[in-house]
Amino acid sequence: MLELEQVCLAYNNNTVVEDVSFTLPRGSIGCLLGSSGSGKSTLLRGIAGFESLTSGRIVLNQRVVSHGTTHIAPEHRRVAMVFQDFALFPHLTCLQNVTFGLQAMAEQERIAIAQRQLAMVGLQAYAEAYPHALSGGQQQRVALARALATSPDVLLLDEPFSSLDAGLRDSLAREVRQLIKDAGITALLVTHDQQEAFAFADHIGVMHQGQLQQWATAYELYHRPATAFVANFVGQGV
Ligand code: ATP
Ligand code: MG
Repeated sequence: MLELEQVCLAYNNNTVVEDVSFTLPRGSIGCLLGSSGSGKSTLLRGIAGFESLTSGRIVLNQRVVSHGTTHIAPEHRRVAMVFQDFALFPHLTCLQNVTFGLQAMAEQERIAIAQRQLAMVGLQAYAEAYPHALSGGQQQRVALARALATSPDVLLLDEPFSSLDAGLRDSLAREVRQLIKDAGITALLVTHDQQEAFAFADHIGVMHQGQLQQWATAYELYHRPATAFVANFVGQGV
C-alpha cells in the first residue's frame, strides 16, 4: 500500500507539487494524468526517493519513507522505477541489464532471476543481445523485467510507452497490466494517454498545476468530476 499525505515538493523554493494526498491499496494500479508540467514526474521521483519533500508524508506498506527529517534512500524503499527513455545500459547485454539491480545476490541466483524475468516479458531469446539490437518496445520490456527482478513493493512507471506507436502501446500496456496483476505488485503509472489510463488503472489521479484535482475510479471521474478542470479534461479525451 502506498499512502501520500499532503505531499509538497519544490525546486529551489518553487513549489511544483502541492498538498497531494491519496492512497493506493496493495496490488492495485494507479494512473496519474494531467497537463505537461503539472508535477507528475516530480511526484513519482518523490515517491521513489530521488527528491526530498518540503512537507507531508509518504508511507509504503506501513513504513514511513519520507517525513520531516526521515528520508529513506531510493535503494532501500523497495520501489522500482521505469523511465520514459528506457535507460538501459547500452554496453551491457539484456541479461546483464536485468542482473544489474541484484548486486547483493550470488551470481547464479541473479542469473536465474534475470532469465525468469526476461522469459516473463517474452524476451528470453534476447538475453545475450545488446539493447541497440532491440526495438523500442522490446527495450521497454527489458526495463520492466529489470524493475520487476528486484521484487519491488511498488512499481513506478513514468510514461513507459509514450515513445511507442499506438498499436504497440496498446498491446504492451495490456501485457504489462497483466504482468503487474500476476505479480501482485502495487503500481503507479504516469501517462498522457487517457484511454490507456482508463484501461489500465483501478484508480486515476488528475494533476493540474501541482495539485491533485481528484483521485477516483475511472467511473467516478467520468460521472462525478470533482472540479471543472477534471470535467473538461475527461470530457476532451474520451
Ligand atoms: P510532463 O507531462 O511534461 O512530463 P510533468 O507533469 O511530469 O510534465 P514535472 O516534470 O514534474 O511535470 O515538472 C513540474 C514542474 O517542475 C515544471 O514546471 C518543471 O519545469 C519543473 N521542474 C521539473 N524538473 C525540474 C528540475 N530538475 N529543476 C527545476 N525545475 C524542475
Ligand atoms: Mg513528466
